[in-house]
Amino acid sequence: MTTITLVQGDITRQSADAVVNAANSSLLGGGGVDGAIHRRGGPAILAECRKLRAGHYGKGLPTGRAVATTAGDLDARWVIHTVGPRYAREEDRSELLASCYRESLRVADELGARTVAFPAVSAGIYGWPMDDAARIAVETVRATETDVEEIRFVLFDERAYDAFAGQLG
Ligand code: ADP
Repeated sequence: MTTITLVQGDITRQSADAVVNAANSSLLGGGGVDGAIHRRGGPAILAECRKLRAGHYGKGLPTGRAVATTAGDLDARWVIHTVGPRYAREEDRSELLASCYRESLRVADELGARTVAFPAVSAGIYGWPMDDAARIAVETVRATETDVEEIRFVLFDERAYDAFAGQLG
């Protein structure tokens, strides 16, 4: 049984088995959620990301994929980094955004994570309209088979919270 919950707040302050990072392909940090996770989580996360870049992900993590590292100083065991697509009016990239949620849950299952906190992937710097990002997020996790018991969406502001609440109904 998977329960979907919503919280308005800062994802770096969540206590969960795994916290999902809206990363970029470089895995070497950025703005938004990514910057906040690396700031609060400390250098251990970046150190593992650099190893991933030196090894399996020499060209970076492809869009729609997910990979885990330690969560450093966060109150979580793992950070699952996923790379959302940039929003593009001229091309439907919804499947890549859905893949971020599916792949993150697949990695969470491999790790044995039971609670997973997600931000609104792609809905910040990558420009995805919030209502549509929320629809894809909620539809995808509802349709995904997983052993995760709680999927918690952590929304930074009221507008994002309301968009996700509207989708959950
Ligand atoms: P992307 O590059 O995938 O668009 P962002 O990190 O820029 O990712 O934004 C994704 C969403 O996360 C946006 O709605 C943004 O407002 C929100 N956000 C930014 N910082 C935090 C945080 N510390 N906790 C939760 N959500 C955050």
